[in-house]
Amino acid sequence: MYASVILELSIEKALDYLIPEPLLGMVHKGVAVEVPLRGHIQRGIVIDVKEVSAAAKVLPIHRVVTDIVLTADLLELALWMAKYYMTPLGRVLKTMLPAGVRKNTQAKQQYYIMRKVSREVLRKEVVTLRDSAPQQAAVLDVMLRVRKGILHTELLEKAEVLPSSVKGCIDKGLLSFDIVRSDRSPLQGQEYFMSKPKILRDEQQQSLDRINNSLERGGFHTHLIFGVTGSGKTEIYIQAITKALQLGKNVIMLVPEISLTEQTIERFRCRFHESLTVLHHRLSDGERKEAWEVIREGKSRIVIGARSAIFSPMPALGLIIVDEEHEHSYKHTDGSPCYQARDVAIMRAKLTHATALLGSATPAIESYHNARLDKYTLSALKERSAAKLPCVHIVDMKREFEKAKGYTIFSDSLLTKIDARRKVGEQSILFLNRRGFHTELSCASCGQVLMCEHCSAKLTFHKAAGVASCHLCSKAISPPTMCPFCRAVASIKYQGMGTEKVQSVLSAIFPGIETLRIDADTTKHKGSLEMQLREFRSGKADVLIGTQMIAKGLHFPEVTLVGVLNADAHFYIPDFRATEQLFQLITQVAGRAGRGASPGEVIIQTATPEHPVIRQAAAQDYEAFFTSEIETRKTFGFPPFCRIVKILFTGKVERFVGEAAHRYAQALARLLPPQYICHPVVPAGHSKIKDTFRYVCIVRGASQQPIRTAIAACDAKDLLPASVQRFVDVDPVSIT
Ligand code: ADP
Ligand code: ZN
Repeated sequence: MYASVILELSIEKALDYLIPEPLLGMVHKGVAVEVPLRGHIQRGIVIDVKEVSAAAKVLPIHRVVTDIVLTADLLELALWMAKYYMTPLGRVLKTMLPAGVRKNTQAKQQYYIMRKVSREVLRKEVVTLRDSAPQQAAVLDVMLRVRKGILHTELLEKAEVLPSSVKGCIDKGLLSFDIVRSDRSPLQGQEYFMSKPKILRDEQQQSLDRINNSLERGGFHTHLIFGVTGSGKTEIYIQAITKALQLGKNVIMLVPEISLTEQTIERFRCRFHESLTVLHHRLSDGERKEAWEVIREGKSRIVIGARSAIFSPMPALGLIIVDEEHEHSYKHTDGSPCYQARDVAIMRAKLTHATALLGSATPAIESYHNARLDKYTLSALKERSAAKLPCVHIVDMKREFEKAKGYTIFSDSLLTKIDARRKVGEQSILFLNRRGFHTELSCASCGQVLMCEHCSAKLTFHKAAGVASCHLCSKAISPPTMCPFCRAVASIKYQGMGTEKVQSVLSAIFPGIETLRIDADTTKHKGSLEMQLREFRSGKADVLIGTQMIAKGLHFPEVTLVGVLNADAHFYIPDFRATEQLFQLITQVAGRAGRGASPGEVIIQTATPEHPVIRQAAAQDYEAFFTSEIETRKTFGFPPFCRIVKILFTGKVERFVGEAAHRYAQALARLLPPQYICHPVVPAGHSKIKDTFRYVCIVRGASQQPIRTAIAACDAKDLLPASVQRFVDVDPVSIT
């Protein structure tokens, strides 16, 4: 007997090996083995077992590595990913399998937390702790809701706190703990107020009918729900999941990491008796491995998680949901394979004959295009279920600058409206996509802008921390008093506004206003984002100021005003997806307003009020936006009308990187078919990060296969010195 083996170092080429007598019966499809190759032992995965081999000389398999056995569909998926994303199989497997599974980490002992005192006593404690120790109060809130007790990890997830807060409650004698076997179901002993399905509106029902139809028929099919925020997409997901479960089919649902909060999960838990596994980022390696095994054994029928949850070893997969499918966080960009989880989800659905369900208020151009071509079944939800769409105003900042005789960050009307909301106890959100206090430091004498020593990035001044820092490498220095270029003294000018400055200006205008800021600076600690969101939701602040972190998927019923401070910033990004991003951003941000009983208002401040994308976003007119954007993409030959592959070259010596990249690109250009374009090599958008120089080469063409073949042929020529690395990004989010 022979085995076809793909080495982990290889992308797709299979080699034949003899299965020695003692290993017969142990070598199956999906098993990891060690095999000899040119005098070395290499790891590989068996993809086929057969009786004959066409190879001239066949060596025996050295050993079976029993620790990894991929399920059949994940193996297929891995092989597809290796090929599609031009990444060695071993790297793909590394991405697919959680570290705990690869290293066979044992789950730590689990703690089961219980109340040590009566509910009445706890209730009193909560009141006193609410101000002094809000995190502990959050722990007790959860403990008041459980019947007997709750697993420690579950408690952390539900209360959105760190272990120290639970320990605090135990130390106070309010809670006790027990050590439990690790294989008990995490849902035992918890109370959930099971809620009933909602009666769907007609357009929701029609959408659900189509999805249910696919589920019943079986076979691969993709649906796209295009529905404004609050139109009831999640309700459809829930009812589709119910249907899948009834049919004996299991479910994976992907949500953006930022939406993976207790608020979202609760909605699902309240509807399913079935055990549901949440793959949140707080899981340790051991816990992740345990979850992986629970899923593989079919003990959990629903998995919810961010990007990598698509690799859950779920048997009998029948439905894969991708919520907010346009989100760029589904694309893995740091390190290969640069996979797009939405596309992988669709591929997995194809391999498992499952139904794929995408949902968004602002579908990706590619997805909507596919729906237009009837590759996906489109369901449009035009109405909001519970609230009305907000009213959007565009404010021309050029006039505001004239009025203020200079730069101003707030228009008069925005200030008036913030004040009005505050007086009636309603909340506002202000959105600015730059953090820090001042976003540029330059010398008034020589005009030079202060840059990071190690990166091609301007330094940003952070007032609270008292530093000038680089947002690429995080290195911070004390702001210089003397210009490092011309040695002028006290000549440094501070310009440009970030979220920190917005917060301080607002407090100066309205003394006593309560503001809360959420950006990468205020959310460095685990759990701090969740805590701040909860504070805002509970009414602790009048105004929430933040970066894109707050733009997405969050639900704040008391928010009736949203301000977008500098809608123009995106126009300066030289990328074919910049307008799409701006449209998505404004629509998503606007969707935060008026989700409760009171209607919402949105103010968009811009110096280019006549710009079509601003107008389309303000009118929440996705169709108009799509129509003009797809035309542009067609004219200039961008996806979905062509395939793009980005090749990134990196290295420590700038000249070497540049030269090697040019050499590679020249060779590649010769290997491509005539209509394919290999653009000249240019420095990347961030041309230097942490002293590593970066050059990019963009390849465009009608389909991917010729590009893949050319890159493989080019790699075989060994054109790059050892000091220069090459990364391939298929379907890149950005081309800079
Ligand atoms: P989306 O996911 O599109 O943002 P949701 O499913 O979260 O929308 O729905 C928004 C709100 O409307 C939720 O509070 C939800 O419970 C409610 N809702 C959804 N569908 C219905 C319905 N058919 N009847 C009543 N309320 C609904
Ligand atoms: Zn830096």
